[in-house]
Amino acid sequence: MGLFSRRKTVFVDSDVLVIGGGMAGCGATYESRYWGRDLKVVCVEKANIERSGAVAQGLYAINCYMGMQWDENQPEDHVRYARNDLMGLVREDLGYDIARHVDSTVHKFEEWGLPIMKDPETGRYQREGKWQIMIHGESYKPIVAEAARKAATEVYNRIMVTHLLMDKKKPNRVAGAVGFNVRTGDFYVFRGKAVIVCAGGASHIYKPRAVGEGMGRTWYAPWSSASAYALPILVGAKMTQMENRIVLTRFKDGYGPVGAYFLHLKTYTENAYGNEYESTWYEHTKNLVGDYIDRHPVPTCLRNHAILEEVKAGRGPIRMVTKEAFQDPHKETVGWENFLGMTIGQAVVWASQNIDPKEINPELTTSEPYVMGSHATCSGAWASGPSDYAPDEYQWGYNRMMTVDGLFGAGDTIGGTAHKFSSGSFTEGRIAGKAAVNYINDMGSDGPEVSEAEYENLKKVVYQPMENYQVGRNEIVAGTVSPSYILPIHGLQRLEKLMDEYVGGISSHYTTNDVLLGRGLELLDLLKEDLNCLAAEDLHQLQRAWELHHRVLASECVTQHTLFREETRWPGYYYRADHPKLDDGDWHCFTLSQYDRDSGKWGMEKAPVYHIID
Ligand SMILES: Cc1cc2nc3c(=O)[nH]c(=O)nc-3n(C[C@H](O)[C@H](O)[C@H](O)COP(=O)(O)OP(=O)(O)OC[C@H]3O[C@@H](n4cnc5c(N)ncnc54)[C@H](O)[C@@H]3O)c2cc1C
Repeated sequence: MGLFSRRKTVFVDSDVLVIGGGMAGCGATYESRYWGRDLKVVCVEKANIERSGAVAQGLYAINCYMGMQWDENQPEDHVRYARNDLMGLVREDLGYDIARHVDSTVHKFEEWGLPIMKDPETGRYQREGKWQIMIHGESYKPIVAEAARKAATEVYNRIMVTHLLMDKKKPNRVAGAVGFNVRTGDFYVFRGKAVIVCAGGASHIYKPRAVGEGMGRTWYAPWSSASAYALPILVGAKMTQMENRIVLTRFKDGYGPVGAYFLHLKTYTENAYGNEYESTWYEHTKNLVGDYIDRHPVPTCLRNHAILEEVKAGRGPIRMVTKEAFQDPHKETVGWENFLGMTIGQAVVWASQNIDPKEINPELTTSEPYVMGSHATCSGAWASGPSDYAPDEYQWGYNRMMTVDGLFGAGDTIGGTAHKFSSGSFTEGRIAGKAAVNYINDMGSDGPEVSEAEYENLKKVVYQPMENYQVGRNEIVAGTVSPSYILPIHGLQRLEKLMDEYVGGISSHYTTNDVLLGRGLELLDLLKEDLNCLAAEDLHQLQRAWELHHRVLASECVTQHTLFREETRWPGYYYRADHPKLDDGDWHCFTLSQYDRDSGKWGMEKAPVYHIID
């Protein structure tokens, strides 16, 4: 094994193994303990669950709350809303399942100490919008993490999971995972009867707007490194809707959120010349997508589309009209506090650019694309649905189990269910946790076994970048340039450029076609070859190396899906210039992919969309 054979191997046995301790992972850990009192519940996290994942900085609103106790909304309403926003394509069974349980999750958060704002007149939670409630959420994540910490048998922080392990007795059954401690370098072998992947979404697969001095700043968390997709993809789990990447309209240069501005402060947008512009693009958009443009609320992608067209027509920048709202001192306070709870950087950017939103209407822009399953898009793993609600074709096992036995997921990991957000992700984690416990109980004594040969081989693979560095560093010719290796940052920038130019990133106005996608796949193949030469000078770089591996595999999946769907379903998120219109006749369906790690080939197929709710 060479230089790294001396690394210690730590073995951990578990019944339920939760990978990623963000919102979904905390929910899965909490609920697994509730149903599995005597089970060993282990949560593994690459950072520290206290402040990890997309909610690390805190949030200002919980974006998914029905308010059934006050008859504000019913779960069916939420399914209709998500379906409309996703241009008709959602897993209604999964969405309904989350919506019917999400209120109880939010009530738990309040019980655990999360301050939720109240409407002084009604005593109800303060609404920001139809689905959003406002919170004092700086400590949201530590509060949620405390519940998971108390529920878990053990939490392993600072362990980057790199691969899943498969059962040596039964094909297509998961048996655990391996990873390494990013501080000590120890190799970890986790044996688990059921594994729940909750490893967040993917940023930094497309070239970001913020480069150079701004590098690292993104809308979605920069540490969301696509493990949620790469881990299941590698063991052959089917993925769905991976082409449905998200593009956000946000305040320029700081990616500051706009939800509270639109919904609570009632601000609106205008073009460079102070004119309303959405109606200008009505006929054009109707020609592309038909009646979807007449839906209420207008789907998020179509609002992006109007902005993009207006800017392309030379009437940018688009600005948020804040000057009026900010004359009201209460609204001004809310406007600033909205950033202080979750995107402090936006307030700093405005200060540094002399922007006082009371005096100047700040610019908006559209972000680079991200891949995720919990916000306004629904990329992720194809999962079995709830037994009391899912159509037969969506049920092959336990709720939220992927197409690999014993492998569950929640939050950004699971596809087909947009608009779950923080509360819905935690709720889906709870659903997956309960199902995983049932799976283990039904398994009896026929538990999975890991293969020594498999994890020993992976140990070699995992540390290979450090070995590459040790050997190749003697050949450095200038600065950090070596003829024998590439560094993770080089690989990342190559990936971002490639995805940007060929798979519909910012520099091509999110536009691509079959020829570009084909070339993109060829270049991804070449990049994958070069990943064998990745070099890591320390454990931090080793983590970056594995994050890059995960990002590249997820990117390949995105590209395959984008090539497969021959239509433009979500203008504003991306455009297939060779198929510029929405095509409900052929493409009112889910796209599914499956990776074969032996051949490196992808299989693609369609799956039906069942409309369960009228
Ligand atoms: C800028 C921003 C604003 C948002 N605003 C709101 C809002 O206002 N309201 C709202 O309700 N929701 C909001 N959301 C959405 C919400 O944060 C997500 O829906 C939710 O966090 C998704 O939960 P998750 O568990 O899937 O992912 P995360 O919470 O991101 O958790 C993923 C976890 O997996 C860990 N991990 C990743 N890879 C590995 C690995 N290989 N090994 C071990 N651990 C790993 C990560 O460190 C992380 O802890 C926002 C998100 C962002 C980024």
